[in-house]
Amino acid sequence: MPGPSVTLNVIAMCKSFGRRKALDQVSLQVGAGEFVALLGPNGAGKSTLFQILSGLFIADQGQALVCGFDIGAEPIAALARLGVVFQQPALDLDLSVAANLQFQADLHGIARLDAKQRIASCLARFGLAERSQDAARVLSGGNRRKVELARALLTGPQLLLMDEATVGIDPASRMQIIADVKALCKEQNMAVLWATHLVDEAEGADRIVVMAKGKVEFDGQSAQLIASQQCANLTDAFMRLTE
Ligand code: ADP
Ligand code: MG
Repeated sequence: MPGPSVTLNVIAMCKSFGRRKALDQVSLQVGAGEFVALLGPNGAGKSTLFQILSGLFIADQGQALVCGFDIGAEPIAALARLGVVFQQPALDLDLSVAANLQFQADLHGIARLDAKQRIASCLARFGLAERSQDAARVLSGGNRRKVELARALLTGPQLLLMDEATVGIDPASRMQIIADVKALCKEQNMAVLWATHLVDEAEGADRIVVMAKGKVEFDGQSAQLIASQQCANLTDAFMRLTE
């Protein structure tokens, strides 16, 4: 059994939509302070897994534990420890940046004064302190994503789920967001599961879990993946494994 430093433990999870198996016996772990890339082509089941971990869907079989709390049996305790940025942007564009974060704080029952301080510090972290009163609508795609990230971090999660968080963002902002999340992961000993179909985003991860067609096809270090497929680089190894 995994020790107490295992922040996320997914065990033999299955989920079907009709006859399609979106998740087929998926097991994976993310430790405290570990940045794990969940690398898979479109349709691999990444978002389905995230939706189950966020309590939006119920798995057909299997289990997921966040800090030891079962997402099915103890959802409140599990969800309280989790921050998530979904694939689909989910800011209210007409609200100010600060109001978007305040709404999240209210949902979690964080007292107003505490919330104010947390919002200021989360926005400052991403260089958005000056933008707090701007409508989300006037921000660039990259900055909107950073606001969503700041919102996910407001409650000090022990597990951060990022679902294709950099899609549609310019390369510089993309690299900045990845670097920010990696720094946070190490500083705060936070577990990060970073879903992507982009090999370059997985390259610097502590560990890579490759998913295709609902199954985990590989779990280990980048160099092991390259060696296992007898390829020259990660892109080729990923293609060979998932073709
Ligand atoms: P990924 O995020 O890796 O691209 P998804 O989890 O979105 O993969 O999808 C996995 C599979 O499940 C796909 O074949 C997709 O068409 C199917 N699927 C996902 N969500 C639904 C849904 N709500 N209803 C029916 N099929 C779905
Ligand atoms: Mg997806």
